[in-house]
Amino acid sequence: MNKPNIVILGAGYGGMMTTIKLQRSMKINEANLTLVNINDYHYQATWLHENAAGTLHHDRTQIPIREVINREKVNFIQDRVISIKPDEKKVKLENRELDYDILVVGLGFESATFGIPGLEEHAHVIGNINSARLLREHLEYNFALYHNEKDKKKGRLNIVVGGGGFTGVEFAGELANRIPALCEEYDIEKVQVRIINIEGSETILPGFDPHLVEYAMTSLESRGVEFITGAMIKECKPESIVYEKDGKQVEIPTMTFLWAAGVRANCIVEKSQIETNRGKVEVRPDMRAPNYDDVFVIGDCAKVLDPKSGIPYPPTAQIAIQQSDVVANNIKSLASNGKMEIFKPNIAGSVASLGNNDAIAVVMNNWKLFGWKAAMMKKIIDNRYLFKLGGIGLLLKKGKFNVFN
Ligand SMILES: Cc1cc2nc3c(=O)[nH]c(=O)nc-3n(C[C@H](O)[C@H](O)[C@H](O)COP(=O)(O)OP(=O)(O)OC[C@H]3O[C@@H](n4cnc5c(N)ncnc54)[C@H](O)[C@@H]3O)c2cc1C
Repeated sequence: MNKPNIVILGAGYGGMMTTIKLQRSMKINEANLTLVNINDYHYQATWLHENAAGTLHHDRTQIPIREVINREKVNFIQDRVISIKPDEKKVKLENRELDYDILVVGLGFESATFGIPGLEEHAHVIGNINSARLLREHLEYNFALYHNEKDKKKGRLNIVVGGGGFTGVEFAGELANRIPALCEEYDIEKVQVRIINIEGSETILPGFDPHLVEYAMTSLESRGVEFITGAMIKECKPESIVYEKDGKQVEIPTMTFLWAAGVRANCIVEKSQIETNRGKVEVRPDMRAPNYDDVFVIGDCAKVLDPKSGIPYPPTAQIAIQQSDVVANNIKSLASNGKMEIFKPNIAGSVASLGNNDAIAVVMNNWKLFGWKAAMMKKIIDNRYLFKLGGIGLLLKKGKFNVFN
């Protein structure tokens, strides 16, 4: 292929790292490399719960794209992707149309509400910087309003989190850290504030090591988080949430409900001509879409099955970053008629932060960690990513170095 037009959609973990790897390995006149993203910044989605709780400012999470790309090699277009037309090898953006020879789709995740009444209208989600910032402001506004109301609303200081998976638990942990400061700021007694986590399974963090889950629950409960497990969210109303447990419906007044129990691939993928399975593209072993040899799909838009269990790998940043190696190498191979690589994930483990320099982790061959050691592991993972993306400069600027407090 003579100087192919390579277009990468989405500057998330998958798209950004593919771009960086291609810019490092390709010469200027080898390809036209274009990255399209809705914002002029990349963000660390794995830190958004901290931004939403207000324990970390979103400036720390955002990384200006132009600061990490080589502008001589990468043409960055800030625009919204509207649709993908693989039969015509075109992508429609809000403001223009692009032609491509090779396409990478890395448009990430969005919230899935499963038709539960009221979620779309009344629930908060943590999906990007804007939604995280909105939730932080909403929390603060409710605290500020409390003493300004004559008839105090029951749910003003009840914060309910739907979903005891990673996002819900990590947010609850950060919130437990933030509440004492908010109470002090707005002269509110801490006992008046409730953080309630509602999970459909019998345990939070289903699939995680049961001893570590017990540790996580005890740690969070000691900081004021209440758990209701085996309960399904039935409806979200403007000032309350309804859940069902053991056949009985219960209503909890709340002005702040975070829906953290469902994500799906960006719906642009399902609306394209690319074949999907439950909204995701079940990619071939070389990360290409089933019916298009020139389209790669990466990260949360891609479905990769674990060959042993037949179950899809969970959507994680870890997998998106690993996929970018294979996608970048295979793009080079496709352009030069070389051999395609196969993606084999290497799951190094998982870490769930609990706020307050506390966490649980299972890493490297079932090595279990909790407390500050697990929290430190999480920071090492985060810092390692920054180093891979932008070298020592970016690490020093955005890294997390408060490892022991
Ligand atoms: C609070 C939270 C905590 C998490 N913690 C962890 C963790 O500890 N470990 C882990 O491995 N994973 C974690 N995850 C999951 C992880 O963040 C995702 O799996 C990962 O972000 C997926 O990467 P991606 O490249 O597919 O897409 P994303 O990182 O979602 O990036 C998609 C990009 O596409 C852009 N975009 C979207 N739509 C458009 C459009 N129409 N036009 C142009 N641009 C668009 C977005 O702005 C974004 O830049 C967490 C997620 C959340 C929300």
